[in-house]
Amino acid sequence: MASSIAPWLVVAAALLVVPAAVAIVLLLRQRESLRAQLAAQTRETEALSDQVWGLADREERYRSLVEAQGDLIVRRDGGRIVYANAAYAALFGVPVDDLVGSRMQLPRLASRPIQMLEGGARSFDECMATYEGERWISWVETAVLGPEGHTVIQRVGRDITARIAAEDELVGARARAEAANEAKSRFLATVSHEFRTPLNGILGMADLLSDTGPNAEQATYIGALRSSGEALLALVDDILDVAKVEAGKLELVEEPFDLVQLIETVTELVAPRAQAKGIELAAHIAPDLPAHLLGDRDRLRQILLNLVGNAVKFTETGGVGLSLRREGAGVEFVVADTGPGIPADRLELIFGEFEQLEPAAGERQSGTGLGLAIVRRLVGLMGGEVHAESQLGEGATFRLVLPLPAAPGAAEIAVPRWPRQHVLLVSPSAFAARFLAETIRATGAAVSVATTAEAASAKLAEAASLEQGAVSAVLVDHALGDAPAKDLAAAAREAGIADCLILLSPFERRQFGQPRAAGFSGFLIKPVRMRSLYERLGAGFPQAAPMPGDAGRAAEAAPRPVGAGLTVLVAEDNEINALLVMRTLERFGCTAFWARDGREAMQRVEASFAGTAPPLDLALLDVRMPAMTGLDCAKEIRALEGKLGRARPLSLIAVTANVAAADREAAFGAGMDDCLAKPLERAALLRWLERLSQPPASCLSA
Ligand code: ADP
Repeated sequence: MASSIAPWLVVAAALLVVPAAVAIVLLLRQRESLRAQLAAQTRETEALSDQVWGLADREERYRSLVEAQGDLIVRRDGGRIVYANAAYAALFGVPVDDLVGSRMQLPRLASRPIQMLEGGARSFDECMATYEGERWISWVETAVLGPEGHTVIQRVGRDITARIAAEDELVGARARAEAANEAKSRFLATVSHEFRTPLNGILGMADLLSDTGPNAEQATYIGALRSSGEALLALVDDILDVAKVEAGKLELVEEPFDLVQLIETVTELVAPRAQAKGIELAAHIAPDLPAHLLGDRDRLRQILLNLVGNAVKFTETGGVGLSLRREGAGVEFVVADTGPGIPADRLELIFGEFEQLEPAAGERQSGTGLGLAIVRRLVGLMGGEVHAESQLGEGATFRLVLPLPAAPGAAEIAVPRWPRQHVLLVSPSAFAARFLAETIRATGAAVSVATTAEAASAKLAEAASLEQGAVSAVLVDHALGDAPAKDLAAAAREAGIADCLILLSPFERRQFGQPRAAGFSGFLIKPVRMRSLYERLGAGFPQAAPMPGDAGRAAEAAPRPVGAGLTVLVAEDNEINALLVMRTLERFGCTAFWARDGREAMQRVEASFAGTAPPLDLALLDVRMPAMTGLDCAKEIRALEGKLGRARPLSLIAVTANVAAADREAAFGAGMDDCLAKPLERAALLRWLERLSQPPASCLSA
């Protein structure tokens, strides 16, 4: 029986044990895989944890950096603060946490204009009332992406309170310095002005004294009185000019003026000094320049007198040339000399105040060193430029460019047409020869220039042998020497040239005798006037076209007595000034009456209107007078004329030390016909006397 149970029992046991073993093996395998997964996840968690720590560390470092650098940072989302650093919170005096989430703002006390920066950022400065007091903050504002994905406004600011305070201090210091400078200039202007009145008295009296027939010794003393007075007056005028420009008191006028006349005045004023030193002085105006320009003639004359005067002063041999030509819409003036020149490092410095070069050994320093400073200032006011060029030992050249427009309706300078003429010009003077040749060439004539008598003789002989282009006129500069000049005249006559002119300085003219007796057809005075050159030279050319305006010129040249028959009232409270004006008027042939103040002047005028005193042709009314000002007198005279129905108003001239635009306007407003500066300029007075001695019809158009 036992042997029959055993096999099926074994089978049964085997059937139970095998699956259990399999299950155990499978379980063991699963546990291994889970263990591996767990290990991998632990490693991953550790790596993530490391990353989180790294990020936190970096954020902390970034935050501490932002906090440490001192700039103010705030971010607002529609006004609500979403981020602020400690520096920003300190402006409010609260912890950062209290600020974030709030809409707190600081009161703004002042601000400066906004500037747009690149990338849409803006920058601006604000003064704010902060917990620590008033602070200026300079902000840069940008839009940045906020944590919730939409843009917020970020402002980064820097405290600039110290810089603003320093700037304010600078502005204040500058204003104080400017005010002090202005006060100095005002003082100088007033003082110099006060100097001028007595000085003019002294000079005027010296003039009158020299008319009283002094003996030779007395005449010498009067001469010394005059030259010292003039030197002092020139100095005072210079100081006054500097002060006026500095104080912004110098007003430029813009009036039409005759360019040729101005240049001739300048050269003729300086010529005696040049001729006394034996150096030449010549001027040339490019003929394409307008005959009349618009600008301040008197100031331009002052500038040119300074430059040309300096050139003559510093030049001992050779000469000085002033030339003008068009430069863009303006005019270029060049003053060149053959003097000692100026070292390169001083070319700019000499335009400073009281700047002078060391005088050469044995020379005395003259002048004040103010001339060029005034020139530079005046040129600046006129909107132009001036500078010097020089090679030491080779002379100096001052170049001046001024924006002077043509006067309305101004024609070009009148130049005759001489296309078939050939002029031989003989001159050893560098500037004069070049300038005269250019002036003659402008007519279309041919010009040959000879600098020596020999060269001129050769040219004459050559020309005589030619049919075409034979010399039609000869100009001989007396600077060539007396005998060679006269020999050339004879040679010209022999060559059949009738037109032979000699160029003489006024001094040479006195010595030379009759030019005709010396074989010349005529003479020209140096520096040669353009107009005279064209007239005298043209007179010998039979086919010469007449020059425009010749008739007017003849009238202008004829001198005639001016003031005869005119009665003038002089209202002036300063006795010396009054005496000077009265004597001047009397010299011009006028009858003059003196009124010591405004009231006396009115009595005179009323009496003349009533016929109980001689009728008046002109009244010179000092603007500042006791009892009644010149302006009040003018108003009352005009009212009286209206009341009496007088047909022809009395000519009234305001005489004043201040001839600024406002003073002129006030004078004209009061009924004056003109406003003249003190001391009365003879030329201006003469113009009025001339105008008044003409018949009434031409008076109106004058
Ligand atoms: P001033 O002539 O009264 O001394 P300026 O201001 O006119 O004053 O000139 C300043 C200085 O510049 C002169 O003293 C002189 O040394 C120098 N200077 C001016 N013009 C010339 C010139 N044409 N040639 C040489 N030096 C000159």
